[in-house]
Amino acid sequence: MRTICGKVLLTAALAALLAGCSSGNKKPVIMLDSGHDLQEPGYTSRDDELSLSFVDYTEGAENAGLITEAAYDEALTAELESLLKATGQFTVIRTKTADESMTMAGRLERIDKEEPDLVISIHAIHTMETGATVPLICVEPAGSETHDASLAAGTALQARLHPAEKESQLVYCYYTPVRPETWQLHIVPADDTTDYGEETLEIMTGNSAPVVQVSLLSLHSHEDLAALAAPEGIRQTAEMLRDGLTDYFAQQN
Ligand SMILES: [Zn+2]
Repeated sequence: MRTICGKVLLTAALAALLAGCSSGNKKPVIMLDSGHDLQEPGYTSRDDELSLSFVDYTEGAENAGLITEAAYDEALTAELESLLKATGQFTVIRTKTADESMTMAGRLERIDKEEPDLVISIHAIHTMETGATVPLICVEPAGSETHDASLAAGTALQARLHPAEKESQLVYCYYTPVRPETWQLHIVPADDTTDYGEETLEIMTGNSAPVVQVSLLSLHSHEDLAALAAPEGIRQTAEMLRDGLTDYFAQQN
């Protein structure tokens, strides 16, 4: 479509309204990564008392009523994508579409190709704790070149994520080997910058963009699923993430 730009004298205010015509500032690019897919669904759970919009409860269906981390991650990612786009402030892209499967290598390649200003990877966790869990926000360790941006974005998200009821944790996520081929997640508060000499999350290494990984709920907590995985909970969580991201990018200007 042709637009009429440039041949008219614009006042500053009008020019700002017609930002599409100006060569103005580029919008920050946020890449959303829905943490799992149908091939590799992450944690799984079953809760017959719940009816979650992203779970197939059809009798006779394969895996009827199975709650997967992949399905939750995708539902939240889609909601966040639409809320971020509605602000008009960001270019929002995905590592993968809802139906696509993608290996970690594929994700890292896509991050490097698109060079986003920030990557948000969305997950759930599995704990045996009863009751609701606090969201876990993993940021890049101090040794990483993009640590500062990752930490600043994580801090902005922490301020917005369920601040009243259950303050989220801002942490570094390391892996401690426990026996050959088996690692245990080693979670350290973000103010502990000790070099533990351990690997961190793979999505945070081997790419040039700042990454934050958020784990919003425990898939094995009925309370979490009932409150946070229902449509209203997904919308509220997506709004908190949107507000944290908006704060972070406002600080960058
Ligand atoms: Zn996961």
